[in-house]
Amino acid sequence: MVEARELVKELMKLDNDHEVLFLHGGATTQFMQVPMNLLNENDISSYTDTGAWAGKAIKEAKLFGHVEIAGSSKENNYTSIPENISVSPTAAYLHITTNETIAGTQWHNIPYDCGVPLIADMSSDILSRVLDYNKFDLIYAGAQKNMGAAGVNLVVVNKNILGKVNRVIPTILDYRNHIKEGSMLNTPPVFAVYVAMLTLRWLKEQGGVPAMEKRNNEKAKLFYNTMDSLPIYRGVVTKEDRSKMNAVFVIDDPVTEKEFLDLCKSEGMIGVKGHRTVGGFRVSMYNALPLESVKAITGLMKEFADRKG
Ligand code: PLP
Repeated sequence: MVEARELVKELMKLDNDHEVLFLHGGATTQFMQVPMNLLNENDISSYTDTGAWAGKAIKEAKLFGHVEIAGSSKENNYTSIPENISVSPTAAYLHITTNETIAGTQWHNIPYDCGVPLIADMSSDILSRVLDYNKFDLIYAGAQKNMGAAGVNLVVVNKNILGKVNRVIPTILDYRNHIKEGSMLNTPPVFAVYVAMLTLRWLKEQGGVPAMEKRNNEKAKLFYNTMDSLPIYRGVVTKEDRSKMNAVFVIDDPVTEKEFLDLCKSEGMIGVKGHRTVGGFRVSMYNALPLESVKAITGLMKEFADRKG
């Protein structure tokens, strides 16, 4: 636990106000734990509505206080990140989902200067790119994409924002108690923390977050350049908001789409079917995925497109 927490501090270059916790319950628990700890019943929280995951966070926040929508891309079916956002200066915080795993969008311009504490669900792009992590007041992420095995959450919190709500918080859900106990308030999910520690060691050996970013940029560039060069595949996300973690695209003819999916399967490329709510394809390129895998699928995409004429 000590090493895992230290590695996060080092890799994210965190200052002493930011505490690192490894908690149970998945990112879904954070959807409610964040407002429980930070939002008074009569106060406003500001949320960006960018897709399925943001929507779940919004639903939980409404259980604890008011929610204003600072910006939404619902009208275009979540195929972009809102261009302009408007945050009440009195809001308790602004919440963003830095990468919408299902929609395939990613915030490339983080609203650091929103004027209120900034909270982010980074479940699907944590440690994938260089960000000014100290400018966030709370970051949470399920470990299972970029950090390790399922069963643990990373929470990075600026301790100065805590202790400001009136409600009574159950012991296990109060971040302050976890900080006090060095993230070992109760039995930690030791195996998941251990795997996260190994992954963090690996990440450091690779050259840390800048090296990950470089690799992820290379993978995304290869993928999107290939996709854009082949008219049979159509990216659904606005170009400048494309996710470097999850590339979402469709083939407009359903028969051809099924054919390509079957081809992927027969070549051992699994997990490329889009989420059932979006359809099409989703190619996930998390930190652990090597460039070779992207070369393999883009090669197959070219071959298939050639065959289809
Ligand atoms: N937030 C985002 C952006 C996600 O991608 C996911 C899971 O895929 C979650 C939250 C939910 O995470 P968990 O299953 O750990 O509760």
